[in-house]
Amino acid sequence: MHKDIEKILYSEQDIKNIVKRLAKEIEKDYNGKDFIMVGLLKGCVSFMVDLMREVNLDFSIDFLAVSSYGNSTVSSGRVNIQKDISTSVDGKHILIVEDIVDSGRTLAFISQYLYAKNATSVKICTLFNKPDRRVTDIDVAYVGSVIPDAFIVGYGLDYAERYRNLPYVGVLKESVYSQDT
Ligand code: 5GP
Ligand code: MG
Ligand code: MG
Repeated sequence: MHKDIEKILYSEQDIKNIVKRLAKEIEKDYNGKDFIMVGLLKGCVSFMVDLMREVNLDFSIDFLAVSSYGNSTVSSGRVNIQKDISTSVDGKHILIVEDIVDSGRTLAFISQYLYAKNATSVKICTLFNKPDRRVTDIDVAYVGSVIPDAFIVGYGLDYAERYRNLPYVGVLKESVYSQDT
């Protein structure tokens, strides 16, 4: 285990089981549909790579990178698009792949953005959900696991751009935060 990790919350095997379950749900709902799986960079990377290989359907993939303006505690809900999706979403079903839904502001913005570009439907698949922290009313169709209000890292999720490469998900030691403040 990495020296900065206090505790593992989801092991590699836990995550594999979650991904398999989500893939089955997606297969059932998207069978016969023309859809694009759109990952939100960079947090989606591990999840997207594993999920797309478990979904046994024909679909295309794309990526979107966004950043919130300013600091998250004073986030206005305005989101800056850093890398736009490279294919047309007009008339397509879109499945957004996200690491974690927290306030929901990012996804509320992205859903509106994709509908404005004429997507037929926009659904969200998130590995983790923190419903207690929600400030917008968004519908999350596929949820891997519901977590309490704790800050987690690993499997794509970062703290100051680190720990994304960990194959498991865990909580950081308190000392890591206090060093940085
Ligand atoms: P929101 O739903 O507030 O618009 O933004 C969610 C984003 O905040 C996630 O995609 C993720 O980048 C970040 N985030 C929220 N909770 C956590 C967490 O527990 N750990 C990490 N590493 N990032 C988080
Ligand atoms: Mg994210
Ligand atoms: Mg981050």
